Amino acid sequence: MLNIYNTLSKKKEEFKPINAGKVSMYTCGPTVYDYIHIGNIRAYMIPDVLRRYLEYCGYEVRQIKNITDVGHLTNDDMAQGDTGDDKIEKKALKENKTPAEITEFYEKDFHEVEKEMNILPAHYFPRATAHVPQMIRIIETLIKKGFAYEMNGNVFFDVTKFADYGKLSGNNLEDLQVGARLEEHPDKKNPWDFALWIKAPKEHILHWDSPWSVGYPGWHIECSAMSTEYLGDTMDIHTGGEDNIFPHHEAEIAQTECATGVKFVNYWIHTRHLKVDGVKMSKSKNNFYTLENIKEKGFSPIELRMLILSAHHRTQLNFTWASMEQARANLATLNNFYSRLLSHEPTTEEKLSGMTLEGYKKDFEEAMDDDLNTPKAMSVIFQFVTDGNKLLDENLLGNPMEAKKLLETFAKVLGLILQVAEIPEAVQKIAQERKEARQNKDFAKSDELRDTIDKLGYIVEDIKDNNFIIKKK
Ligand code: AMP
Ligand code: ZN
Repeated sequence: MLNIYNTLSKKKEEFKPINAGKVSMYTCGPTVYDYIHIGNIRAYMIPDVLRRYLEYCGYEVRQIKNITDVGHLTNDDMAQGDTGDDKIEKKALKENKTPAEITEFYEKDFHEVEKEMNILPAHYFPRATAHVPQMIRIIETLIKKGFAYEMNGNVFFDVTKFADYGKLSGNNLEDLQVGARLEEHPDKKNPWDFALWIKAPKEHILHWDSPWSVGYPGWHIECSAMSTEYLGDTMDIHTGGEDNIFPHHEAEIAQTECATGVKFVNYWIHTRHLKVDGVKMSKSKNNFYTLENIKEKGFSPIELRMLILSAHHRTQLNFTWASMEQARANLATLNNFYSRLLSHEPTTEEKLSGMTLEGYKKDFEEAMDDDLNTPKAMSVIFQFVTDGNKLLDENLLGNPMEAKKLLETFAKVLGLILQVAEIPEAVQKIAQERKEARQNKDFAKSDELRDTIDKLGYIVEDIKDNNFIIKKK
């Protein structure tokens, strides 16, 4: 039974879907004006692990991930996220391209990165620009019900009309007044009101007709429009990075619940940020990494996936190149074991003794059930690998195909792609013996074994933690 931390209740809750056996899930997707970075990747990978685990538990999951191609303003870290320039338009002007050229390019790149990271594609990727009529309908309802007001062609949500405003982030209006980095807008009744519709200045490229002005939607309204369009007024899960909690998701709750009159989302799941060398990623600090930068250093996307799995999603993950080396060693350990299992031919006698697998499966599920504890789940897998390798060394693993199947199951849930090194078992065994010799600091023996491997046509490459990768010459 999955227990998951819900930002709304601020505690772990047993997961109970609205409809038996089915899960509806909305993931705030990218604003397609730049390459996504490894922090964004973490924010998309965690919901992917959640979805994979829910599917493993037998649920049919429907996941929607939006593409923000309009309305996300540059000052999104300030106040209500409705000041500054449109990020996409700004980039288009800078590069002398149309907004559509910018969004098409970065959207394509986003999909490629997700694919390389083995993130399952959402069932649908709605684009904000294709849902402006739906946004206008919600805004009309909000005005009609008295939750929103129009002023000089702009429409704002009146936060004082929604008593629950702040229930997600824990902010309340009184505290917010103090010291808030608010940019006063002359048309706002209260400083914390947020824009639903913005009248476009003359030079603004992206604009639509509306009952209020020729303009463009606020950033928050797009997610309310697209999530309810495809998942209904109430959905099971909504995910995002921790910076989405306020103002973005707080605003989504306010405007959606006021428009529909029902609860919007049952479980809010937020991934904490990824930092690099202990500090926030930023282009100016030169510590801003994309998947391409990871690959340039010789690491694979699945090694990055391995690293992201090594931290709990509710702890900040500190990215370092040393931790990438560790992730590489860990993945190699899994791949070496996988290759050994595949090429292991148990003797008739050995078949009588098998590896007991149930315990590992149970422990893995227990870890995942506990708020998707991936580091704990990984440690269960490594115990399984250590025990399995030992049995292989002693010729006591009589059921390699069953063990292989279990390893594949674990890998599928975590989205890891295992690679079989086409290495004969004899070579793998010698490499394992060499590892032990190195551990015992018997370097003469270790060199001798390396030569034997070399003569058989293979090369062992030593990596972190006394681990190795075997390659064909
Ligand atoms: P954006 O395109 O800026 O809206 O961000 C896309 C997603 O990535 C959002 O869910 C953000 O919360 C998330 N995100 C942004 N920066 C980081 C980071 N450093 N670590 C983890 N997630 C992040
Ligand atoms: Zn969103």
